Amino acid sequence: MEKIHHPLRTNIGYFFNKPIGFYRDFIVENPEVFIEPDLQLFNLSGHYTFSRTREGLLFQGAFEAEVDSQCNRCLDPFRAKLSTEFEELYVFGSRTQEEFDEEVIPEDGYIDLGKLIRDYLLLDLPINLVCKPDCQGICVECGVNLNRETCEHTDSRIILD
Ligand SMILES: [Zn+2]
Ligand SMILES: [Zn+2]
Repeated sequence: MEKIHHPLRTNIGYFFNKPIGFYRDFIVENPEVFIEPDLQLFNLSGHYTFSRTREGLLFQGAFEAEVDSQCNRCLDPFRAKLSTEFEELYVFGSRTQEEFDEEVIPEDGYIDLGKLIRDYLLLDLPINLVCKPDCQGICVECGVNLNRETCEHTDSRIILD
């Protein structure tokens, strides 16, 4: 299957001529989306608003998605749920503003929300991913998954962390 490279690219050019205070709400529903360079998301959903401000556009969004990952304790693959909520100010552009922590609206009016959503969702990715809070892990002696089986070493088991 060919990858769609910028599925979350959106044109905000038409906001330029809108009065301050003008806003639009958008909804995102995407069962499967790949965000360059490395993030495959499942069940991405969320909503966002663009509001015209004096300096540019204020983006406010909330998103949820799932990523394929592996449990650190039992090593089973599972889908980790991520969620994020953030704001970002897009300013009408001049190069000097890139020194600040603001995004500049490109001249063609297109911005790629994918990069933004990727960066914020990854902040929600825990370092120690576990499939469920009470995951029993694997037996360090014989390697059975203690969520599904027990073994003769159960008393001395060590939960891998
Ligand atoms: Zn687990
Ligand atoms: Zn065992």
